[in-house]
Amino acid sequence: MQSATDERAQTRRVVVVGAGWAGLGATYHLAKQGYDVTLLEAGSYPGGLVAGWKTTAGRSIEAGIHGFWYPYRNIFSLVQELGLHPFTPFTRSSQYSPAGLEVESPIFQDLPRLPTPLGTFLYTRFHRLPLIDRLSALPLLYAVADFDNSDAAWRRYDSVTARELFKDFGVSARLYRDSFEPMLLVGLFAPGEQCSAAAALGMLYYFILAHQPNFDVVWCRGTVGEQIFLPWVERIERVGGQVLTQRRVSDLTLDSTGQVSAVVCGDEVFQADAVIFAVGVSGMQKIVLGSPTLRDRQEFRNLANLGAVDVLATRLWFDRKITIPQPSNACFGFNATTGWTFFDLNALHDEYRNEPGTVVEVDFYHANQLLPLSDEQVVPLVQQDLATCIPAFRHAKVVDSSVIRLPRAVTHFAPGSYQYLLPGQTSFENLFMSGDWIVNRHGSWSQEKAFVTGLEAANLVIDRLKQGVKAHILPVEADEPHIRFARTINQQVRDWSKALPDFWLP
Ligand SMILES: Cc1cc2nc3c(=O)[nH]c(=O)nc-3n(C[C@H](O)[C@H](O)[C@H](O)COP(=O)(O)OP(=O)(O)OC[C@H]3O[C@@H](n4cnc5c(N)ncnc54)[C@H](O)[C@@H]3O)c2cc1C
Repeated sequence: MQSATDERAQTRRVVVVGAGWAGLGATYHLAKQGYDVTLLEAGSYPGGLVAGWKTTAGRSIEAGIHGFWYPYRNIFSLVQELGLHPFTPFTRSSQYSPAGLEVESPIFQDLPRLPTPLGTFLYTRFHRLPLIDRLSALPLLYAVADFDNSDAAWRRYDSVTARELFKDFGVSARLYRDSFEPMLLVGLFAPGEQCSAAAALGMLYYFILAHQPNFDVVWCRGTVGEQIFLPWVERIERVGGQVLTQRRVSDLTLDSTGQVSAVVCGDEVFQADAVIFAVGVSGMQKIVLGSPTLRDRQEFRNLANLGAVDVLATRLWFDRKITIPQPSNACFGFNATTGWTFFDLNALHDEYRNEPGTVVEVDFYHANQLLPLSDEQVVPLVQQDLATCIPAFRHAKVVDSSVIRLPRAVTHFAPGSYQYLLPGQTSFENLFMSGDWIVNRHGSWSQEKAFVTGLEAANLVIDRLKQGVKAHILPVEADEPHIRFARTINQQVRDWSKALPDFWLP
């Protein structure tokens, strides 16, 4: 019989760095499999980019509001497993420009399902965009079929900007300006001339084009921090995982065989049989800069070629009730390179449902030029933009506000960046990567991708340390038959063309 001491001696130690979706996902699964897991987080709260906290007045705020789209199967399954009910029903959304209301989207799953992309095309209500402009998107369907999220497809499209792609496929100037670019600013946090065409195709396919209901979205009925992360961390601790905040990891140590043996965090050293990094691009760059171990490897030095984008998250409390037609709204055309969204928190968050005034979250993406402004300068600008969309905001008084600056917070999927992104397995046999920016083949994006990469990293640990059962990762819904057919034919043509000399630029 095995003694408790033997068992403890055999329990494998895993250190996970970064407590966002990726790190918590990896930690939870490994803790359930009996690993001795320690999660080290630099910040004061778990949640990463999705963390939430309270103002001194006791009001909930967070680092930008986060939607959960229809295809977030793994997150929805986690929430069910945890027995949580954090989400609103699916919501409708609108798009505004300085000219007023531009687009209204229905709840697509409530409408008869049509082969993609017909439903998106027919059911979306465009108030101003002429049909001829919408039809100019048709040739782009070739690129959508051609981009199958494979390594070859990423290499084909990554060196081209999204703007060039849309131009080459004959998309009209107005459709690009009023539809595609706003989607890029909100989905990839950067304007089309700064986005990789591969990332644009992958993101648009996942959120909009793959299946009619994919654009449907739910929100948390409070901060994600309170509604999901708090109970999730409690569960992680109950199954034996340890979550330590205010622990900024600075380096790794190696054993005589060149494997990672410990994680260095200030004065503390955490021994490990395997390590998972689950930090964003900027965080990873800082770790590499300070780590002689990582600096020694080219794959980590190459991370210096990646970029990140500034985001500004504001929350405004107004003195009166203002009717906001839809709870979630995206805006474009206010600034050439910044997109923004606003959300009716009286409609979305339980805490603000009975508030006497209006509470709105207003988030700006690619907000570089806004970050240097003081709160006193930011708030009137936000109110002015809101009033352009919904005039009643002009006469309301701001009674409280929160401005959160997130410099270099989200990954910049810039043209040419794919070659520098890391896969889950690094050149250190027991060091694994996760996070919404790494290379994987699942096909998801943002929070769902981060969570999935955390599970994938946990599975790589299980492969290596041979303890426990791998996480079951739900795949994205399969391509619709006509897309599958188009992709098969296209691949055959590509295979035949391989016989020709490799002469042209990909
Ligand atoms: C304003 C805004 C709105 C967004 N909206 C949406 C949305 O609507 N839907 C959606 O799906 N996604 C959205 N996203 C993207 C989403 O937030 C990310 O995809 C996701 O949170 C990434 O999770 P992650 O675990 O990969 O990394 P992160 O959440 O970045 O977590 C990384 C963690 O690592 C920690 N860390 C960094 N360095 C160290 C170190 N040296 N030592 C220890 N810890 C360290 C950080 O503090 C952080 O907690 C939005 C992002 C922003 C900023």
